Amino acid sequence: MHALAVEQLRKVYSTGFEALKGVDLSVPEGDFFALLGPNGAGKSTLIGIITSLVNKTSGSVRVFGRDLEREPEAVKAALGVVPQEFNFNLFLPVAEVVINQAGYFGIPRREAKVRAEMLLRKLDLWDRRRSEMRLLSGGMKRRLMIARALVHRPRLLILDEPTAGVDIEIRRTMWDYLRQLNAEGTTIILTTHYLEEAESLCRHIAVIDRGRIEAVAETGALLAKLDTEIFVLNLKQPLKCLPSLPGFALTQCDATTLEAALHRSQSLTELFAALARHGIEVGSMRNKQNRLEQLFLEMVQRGRGTRAAAAQAA
Ligand code: ADP
Ligand code: MG
Repeated sequence: MHALAVEQLRKVYSTGFEALKGVDLSVPEGDFFALLGPNGAGKSTLIGIITSLVNKTSGSVRVFGRDLEREPEAVKAALGVVPQEFNFNLFLPVAEVVINQAGYFGIPRREAKVRAEMLLRKLDLWDRRRSEMRLLSGGMKRRLMIARALVHRPRLLILDEPTAGVDIEIRRTMWDYLRQLNAEGTTIILTTHYLEEAESLCRHIAVIDRGRIEAVAETGALLAKLDTEIFVLNLKQPLKCLPSLPGFALTQCDATTLEAALHRSQSLTELFAALARHGIEVGSMRNKQNRLEQLFLEMVQRGRGTRAAAAQAA
């Protein structure tokens, strides 16, 4: 059974903006799944629809086989949600945030207290249980949102940009906790614009851009598509005329700047040696794009190419 199955989901906001353009997506039970895309891609809109915060324009959503429209309560019970924006009562003590949430799911207060303690200990917040929310750091607030999302023991946990603004050390602890949770059987979907996060945590990645799913693949298979990398080389001396170096894709940007597209079968050492044979010396170098930007470029170009071809054929 699928933890999540989304079909032909569209969202047109009241401004007329089409944020989702017919999204199909399915996430198997037990998976750790990333929805990876740049800002504005439609990630929060998609999560918002699944979690009943945003009304869909058309399409369907099923969570563990239950239709969101027909059985909204069953869907809510199966879902734990960590939204992108903090939405707490800032003056509430930490433990109360979790206990109150249990109340919305009809969990008796005594049981809620037991669960809250277990979660706060696991997420390293127990020492702060009496602090008011507003006194917590960003990373602690984020962990508290995770504790709150888990109090009714959802089978599917959805996190919208869980580590945005969280420093690297805390990010790693959160990752460890999420891995453990997934290993214990909770299906996890997260949205992120960090490739590193998706790569480190998730078994499957869906790339979303401008309201469309551009690719869904196993993480390793998707990253294997990143087969070229572009470097910007700053030369020590101005170059009058770029010699042709067989096997290397070079372009000259200005007198002292070259761009080199390197396939992963090629090494920088080989490139530098080939340049040196023509008396060209490289002073410094940087990556033109990060790997995520590159992945999007490759995906999106491929996606647009396919759509253009389909449009022509139609
Ligand atoms: P992401 O979470 O991937 O950054 P969002 O789902 O938040 O993207 O937004 C997708 C697009 O929809 C963006 O271009 C955004 O400006 C637009 N959008 C989001 N919410 C609204 C809204 N309430 N009204 C109009 N447009 C919106
Ligand atoms: Mg978002």
